[in-house]
Amino acid sequence: MAEHDQPAVLTRDGLEALLGALRAGGYRVCGPTLRDQAIVYDEIDGIDDLPVGWTDEQDGGHYRVKRRDDDALFGYAVGPHSWKKYLHPPRRALWHAKREGEGAFTVEAEPVPSVRYAFIGVRACELAAIAVQDRVLIDGAYPDNHYRALREGAFIVAVNCGEAGGTCFCVSMDTGPKARSGFDLSLTEIVTDTGRAYLAEAGSDDGAAILALLPSRPATNADRGIADAAVANAAAHMGRTMEDAKGVRDLLLANLEHPRWDDVAARCLSCGNCTMACPTCFCTTSEDDSDVAGAEAGHSQRWDSCFTLDFSYIHGGSVRNSPKSRYRQWMTHKLATWWDQFGTSGCVGCGRCITWCPVGIDITEEVRAIHTTPGATA
Ligand code: SF4
Ligand code: SF4
Repeated sequence: MAEHDQPAVLTRDGLEALLGALRAGGYRVCGPTLRDQAIVYDEIDGIDDLPVGWTDEQDGGHYRVKRRDDDALFGYAVGPHSWKKYLHPPRRALWHAKREGEGAFTVEAEPVPSVRYAFIGVRACELAAIAVQDRVLIDGAYPDNHYRALREGAFIVAVNCGEAGGTCFCVSMDTGPKARSGFDLSLTEIVTDTGRAYLAEAGSDDGAAILALLPSRPATNADRGIADAAVANAAAHMGRTMEDAKGVRDLLLANLEHPRWDDVAARCLSCGNCTMACPTCFCTTSEDDSDVAGAEAGHSQRWDSCFTLDFSYIHGGSVRNSPKSRYRQWMTHKLATWWDQFGTSGCVGCGRCITWCPVGIDITEEVRAIHTTPGATA
């Protein structure tokens, strides 16, 4: 990296200048914002669109936004959205067909997107989730060129967490709370003698180049100490812990008939919320549509979930026809067979599946229940 790779401190005005510079550079700037009583991701025009002075309260099946007693810009954990809504959207057209005359028609593939996103406020667990999706959708056996184009065009501004959410367990999964790689710029919100500020570190040449353009001052050892203490505070106050995360693969595969699967199946609604909220779940199905006149037709891809019966429908029946088999498929894929397929865990410890499960099923609790059964661990 160039000379600008030294950490710098930005004020709120410096941050506003960052958003302006990204917009001037042709990026569509997206970040957290408060909408419908939740902190979601959407296009933002400036700092005032961030959830200034808001935080969240999260637990199994529970989410509330609350006022803070300060004007922190990033004082909350991840919400119901993840960045996959941009990189791997819920629905996208694949091709479009048009009748051109008697017996003739044309088929046009959907063009590769040219939009360049700048994501503001990407947490460490979310960087890990993007890296997981990269392995599947870029490095996997069937690369997705739309995903690749969006990924290559994206500028990522990470934010190191100073507080952990009630369902976070990134420390157990070794994915956070500090961003280690996969970003262009990282920010840590700090409170100094002169007020609230943002310790900025470049993670790429593009990040260093844009940082050099912003009004800032060099970071001091004191600034770094405050930032390190903030991240250590988040690490020390994780809402959840994954028991023996390194041994989970073998634990689950050795306990496929454990009675706990019946217990969780009795609670699971098979609604699929956990897969929709999860930043790493990538499964899709395809759909066809046509107009009533039969002149035009389209083929599109949309998110699917292993919790639906249709998902495993083959030759007149579903392979996984009970909630037990579907929940077990989801959890063993996330935590066990994902390793075999992609060389990584499918879980980054973001906690979304716990918060957004309507009945509060908690993946860490399900693992703990099996782990603590006498004889369950080999
Ligand atoms: S399985 Fe749950 S905690 Fe793990 S990455 Fe997905 S949503 Fe987050
Ligand atoms: S675990 Fe919870 S969120 Fe997932 S399908 Fe079952 S009820 Fe829905």
